[in-house]
Amino acid sequence: MEYFKKGLKESDPDVWTAIQNEKNRQNKNLELIASENNVSMAVLEADGSIMTNKYAEGYPSKRYYGGCEFVDEAEKLAIDRIKTLFNAQFANVQAHSGSQANMAAYMSLVKPGDTVMGMDLSHGGHLTHGHPLNFSGQHYNMVAYQVSPETQQIDYDKLRKIAKENSPKMIIAGASAYPRLLDFKKFREICDEVGASLMVDIAHIGGQVATGLHPSPVPYADIVTGTTHKTLRGPRGGYLLTNNEEIAKKINREIFPGIQGGPLMHIIAAKAVAFGECLKPEYKVYMKNVNDNAKALASALMERGFTLVSGGTDNHLMLVDVSKKGLTGKAVEAALDKAAISANKNTIPFDPQKPMITSGIRLGTPSLTTRGMGKAEMAVVAEFIKRVVENVEDDAALSAIRDEVYAFTAKYPMYE
Ligand SMILES: *Cc1c(COP(=O)(O)O)cnc(C)c1O
Repeated sequence: MEYFKKGLKESDPDVWTAIQNEKNRQNKNLELIASENNVSMAVLEADGSIMTNKYAEGYPSKRYYGGCEFVDEAEKLAIDRIKTLFNAQFANVQAHSGSQANMAAYMSLVKPGDTVMGMDLSHGGHLTHGHPLNFSGQHYNMVAYQVSPETQQIDYDKLRKIAKENSPKMIIAGASAYPRLLDFKKFREICDEVGASLMVDIAHIGGQVATGLHPSPVPYADIVTGTTHKTLRGPRGGYLLTNNEEIAKKINREIFPGIQGGPLMHIIAAKAVAFGECLKPEYKVYMKNVNDNAKALASALMERGFTLVSGGTDNHLMLVDVSKKGLTGKAVEAALDKAAISANKNTIPFDPQKPMITSGIRLGTPSLTTRGMGKAEMAVVAEFIKRVVENVEDDAALSAIRDEVYAFTAKYPMYE
């Protein structure tokens, strides 16, 4: 039993060092990846807890294993809290990730070979909304809708036209890189006109929906899916919501035994903790600050001559069209990295560049806001980004900016 009691540093210095270095990176870098956030110590504690040991196939009080009385408590808390958070009648919190949640939603609402409409990936959609290499593209007849070339926002008339031409069994609303509000009522109307189910994927905007900063899809969707680790600031994972009891039964069957075995009970406990945090008044303030900071960062970038897709943002993220500066997303991502600023290259609507190159950079404010930064800091961040973009080829200039970034982030301490 000696190995059992050793801490990680002593027992496995290689992994310990990797984790230590990653912690330093998270503390020192400016994290602008829109899908990332920083969990609280309470979430981290549940995430790293002994609930990882427990097999609990099935659902609370209906398990295929004994000894589930305490993990049942954790899962019931997670379910009750997320139902309150989103004002939904049924919830499944077992999906290992957002992609698993989406797969379960497809399996609950459509059959392989059916036609499904999702947002074009290069216009903001997610891999699970129809990428040819993803399960969605492999097993369903995927038809894409796009944004309008003029407004760079979803063209609902065009969407309706494509729906009428293709008679999809399901339409997916939701995106990974769409900075504007989604009109779920209109999606529902179009679905009703063509006899399609509506799946809404709020992986990114879960925090805004939970706090009323974005209209809720729950009254309109057959299934709402999401992730717990983005704006919701919880452990990595997914969830599904519905107000329809029959669909709820299908969801539970498709998650287990459909696509998963034993649920990750430590993650479910951490989800319960995160949902508990989201129900507190402080979280509402946090999410408002996330959106306000995104608006402030967007304005500060536009004042510095940057072009934003759709001209701004209504949520926590924005897409910068760096082709207007004669650059690619790939080059800017690499230069930002050298300056300790983490962001990701991203295609923009009608992007002439390939997905590994791109013309855009996606930026988001959830992590910086968690660290306590506000509007004044967003101007500082915009100035850093401007200087990086002016110096993409100049490693000396980029490392000088990196030192300034380190001095700046040191004022917003995070993990000890
Ligand atoms: C992030 C994301 C997902 C998937 O999340 P994973 O947990 O990475 O599988 C699904 N849909 C959308 C729109 C996303 O942005």
